[in-house]
Amino acid sequence: MHKKYVGRFAPSPSGQLHFGSLVTAVASYLDAKSNHGTWLLRMEDIDEPRCISGVDKDILCTLEKHGLFWNGDVIYQSQQHQRYQEVVDRLLEQDLAYYCACTRKQIKAMGGVYNGHCRHLGLAPDSNNQDQFAIRLTMTRPLQAFEDVIMGNVTPIESEAPCDSPHQEASTANSSAEDVVIKRRDGLFSYNLVVILDDVFQGVNHVIRGCDLLDVTPLQKAVYQTLGYEIPTYGHIPVAAVSPGRKLSKQNRAAPVNNTTPKENLLRVMQFLGFDFPAASSFNDISALLAHAIAIWDRKKVVKTPEIIVPQHESTYYSEPL
Ligand code: GLU
Ligand code: ZN
Repeated sequence: MHKKYVGRFAPSPSGQLHFGSLVTAVASYLDAKSNHGTWLLRMEDIDEPRCISGVDKDILCTLEKHGLFWNGDVIYQSQQHQRYQEVVDRLLEQDLAYYCACTRKQIKAMGGVYNGHCRHLGLAPDSNNQDQFAIRLTMTRPLQAFEDVIMGNVTPIESEAPCDSPHQEASTANSSAEDVVIKRRDGLFSYNLVVILDDVFQGVNHVIRGCDLLDVTPLQKAVYQTLGYEIPTYGHIPVAAVSPGRKLSKQNRAAPVNNTTPKENLLRVMQFLGFDFPAASSFNDISALLAHAIAIWDRKKVVKTPEIIVPQHESTYYSEPL
């Protein structure tokens, strides 16, 4: 029997929702609802210095204004530190993670790919020098190609290690992936750890998100396997960009979603994703519009381009000198 579908939207509250993040919210919502699933919400505020207070409420308000109601309570990463630390402690105890003192410079000298130098050194910080050690996970699985339910076959990016590097084997197809940092020297838990711990904790088994995270997905899958968790189904949708390689984001001066025109916004999202959609005025209300969107949602119809350039009004990037 199939497990019940659990999906999610996981915005970082470093800025208000813009058109690109609305696209991700809508796509993950429609994929969940068309599969009779639940749709959870998680605030990814692990990188607290970059988060702006009050933005989370603003994001929730925008979702509500667009009829995108989530199931259950919103989870905040900033409130989960104890749970993350418990996992890290357990991994250290079980010798599945270790302290690493390598600097950026040293890793560069290894050919740009960390070669497992500190794996068996048994390094242990004392209370005065914690900030000189990162914690790495001992990876037991390689990066592998996978089938994305929207983008199709995805092959892992080859590492940039030079061919004559003695550590080249660290990144070839059949050896394990580079030991990933799970807690940084500055004490922050790394995104590649917490995104997985939270998805497991929340029972998420379907991840629909932007193509900007496509490249990191083989690594996240290898982390799932190394930790012994069941891997979710992944689907990646096109990212909205202001110009090639520059995704719509706070840094690129994305305009916040206009909450006074939700039907028109939703229509534009559907068109962006590649769907023919009736005029916004043909729907009495947002829930009728969303019901239609759920009915016609089809992963196969989503545009397979990783990046789409959006009209200029989505960002002040065009009108202000950089
Ligand atoms: N918080 C991430 C972002 O806003 C999304 C992470 C994910 O969906 O896995 O880009
Ligand atoms: Zn090291």
